[in-house]
Amino acid sequence: MNRKFKEKDLILATHNFGKIEEFKHLFGKKRFKITDIGQYSWTPPVENGTSFLANALIKAREATKLTGLVSLADDSGLCVDVLKGAPGIYSADWAIMDNGSRDFNFAINRLINEIEKKDYVKPLTAHFVCSLVLHWPDNYFEKFEGKVFGEIIWPGKGNNGHGYDPIFLPIGYKETFGQIDRWEKNKISHRGLAMDKLLDACF
Ligand code: IMP
Repeated sequence: MNRKFKEKDLILATHNFGKIEEFKHLFGKKRFKITDIGQYSWTPPVENGTSFLANALIKAREATKLTGLVSLADDSGLCVDVLKGAPGIYSADWAIMDNGSRDFNFAINRLINEIEKKDYVKPLTAHFVCSLVLHWPDNYFEKFEGKVFGEIIWPGKGNNGHGYDPIFLPIGYKETFGQIDRWEKNKISHRGLAMDKLLDACF
């Protein structure tokens, strides 16, 4: 039996404006207040877990510790089969350039370079994963996972979305995540699927 969220406040354990908007949209009309952790003096914890779930749990636990409130955290990434699941939990790190700033064109080029070193066949199967953790102050938590399967194509297409979206073509679609309307993407994306499970179970 899943624990139900009955509180009046929910903390989103992310600074990422795009994710905050997506979560608020996915919750739709709600009877509780959603606050993002940016309203607090929050230093993001080191994500040194070895899985998406472990990293989501680190963020959720820290956010609850700081605020005393129920928090929601996610960790997500792209897993490419020919790269044995890379970049996986390091998806965001692959965008870090020598000067320390992040650039997803750089990350995409790096990914393609890594693929080209392999003896690959098309389709280049891949999937996005999203782990969500809803964490209560008594340390109880609920976890959910969403996956969306597809293939890597390049050159990338589309300017919607973020991260690796332009090079990900979901199965059954003719457009990449970079071309699909953002809110349509939410309906089929790893984050959207994980959120569906969370909403069914806990809200
Ligand atoms: P997180 O903020 O630690 O979960 O980092 C997830 C990283 O995975 C992001 O920075 C992106 O690189 C990648 N990622 C996760 N979800 C998506 C998506 O829906 N589209 C494109 N890239 C994504």
